[in-house]
Amino acid sequence: MSDINRRDMIGAAAAVAGGILATRAWAEPVEKHEELPTFRYAMEQQKGRITEGGSAKEATVKQLPISTGLAGVSMRLKPGGLRELHWHANAAEWAFVVKGRVRTTVIGPDSLSETNDFDPGDVWYFPKGHGHAVQNLGKEEAHFILVFDDGGFSEYRTFSITDWLGGTPPSVLEKNLGLRAAEFARFPKDELFIPQGRTPPPTDAATQKMQKMAPLTHRFPLMAQPPMRFAGGEERRVSQKEFPVSRTVTGVILDLEPGALRELHWHPHANEWLYFIHGNARMGLFGSHGRHRIEEFSTGDAGYIPQGFGHYIENTGSTKCRILIAFDSGDYQEISLSTWLASNPTGIVADNFKIADVQVGQMPDHRVFVAPKEGVRK
Ligand code: MN
Ligand code: MN
Repeated sequence: MSDINRRDMIGAAAAVAGGILATRAWAEPVEKHEELPTFRYAMEQQKGRITEGGSAKEATVKQLPISTGLAGVSMRLKPGGLRELHWHANAAEWAFVVKGRVRTTVIGPDSLSETNDFDPGDVWYFPKGHGHAVQNLGKEEAHFILVFDDGGFSEYRTFSITDWLGGTPPSVLEKNLGLRAAEFARFPKDELFIPQGRTPPPTDAATQKMQKMAPLTHRFPLMAQPPMRFAGGEERRVSQKEFPVSRTVTGVILDLEPGALRELHWHPHANEWLYFIHGNARMGLFGSHGRHRIEEFSTGDAGYIPQGFGHYIENTGSTKCRILIAFDSGDYQEISLSTWLASNPTGIVADNFKIADVQVGQMPDHRVFVAPKEGVRK
């Protein structure tokens, strides 16, 4: 449809709606290229927050305004570094270990806890409000990506144990925890965030005074799972179905071969947050009112696709592109362009595009999901 015809239709529809709306629609026609905001943030290029035992860089709605539903953090722990005991009041935490080995201990209601060791490729999930801590187990730096199911979440100055105890009267702490008030007076007065500690022993079980095992595990070995394979790449996915504790987040590792395309699709009920572990890719975002935006992503960038917006990812580099993707729902849902078209009667698809039935017949009769560099043409 030409631009003029399109405006005519919008105007006619508005005229039916009547009154002020019609006047407004004619006076201010919908612009063909209304702006979509940026959906890319160069997270790893930021300085972030650095403390003695490690560092953190975050992408929240403040840095990437479109990302209202999810936030992310890239965290590194030095050998012996630890993300101190803390909790998040407003968000669940999902994580993927990129490099190194770490140990977490999480506590929920009813004194139920779990201590787990994580290798590269493993995932954790801590429900909203559950207390936790992370230690580097190895001699190398550990690197992991954290995702939170609230775009307004900030990792900096969350509910940390040093902040809490440092601001509580020592006389109160003496009653609660058994040391003398003078000893509590020497505790850190300000949040340490990531202090430097000792590399933990192979197992800490003997030093834990309580261990009442949580019924659902908080660890899922994502990269140890067999992938879904396609001609142009593969995907590993973990939803609540595979990982029952993960009620509010689904995670994905998507590998695209050079030139491959994660096909046009949308997610009807979830927002999508992305982190480019390595590689280069182009993403196209499609919004209502004919809005389009294309942006280029490379290693260390974060991205965001709002719920219901159309999008695709194309590997533009000469090497494999690996992308971490998280959704703010434990139930994974997607609608792909190839299945949408293949599921409609041939006649309506042909008439919709003003093409011949035989051309519709040449389109895929199955879900493409990832198309190889050479495309799906038969
Ligand atoms: Mn946390
Ligand atoms: Mn998607």
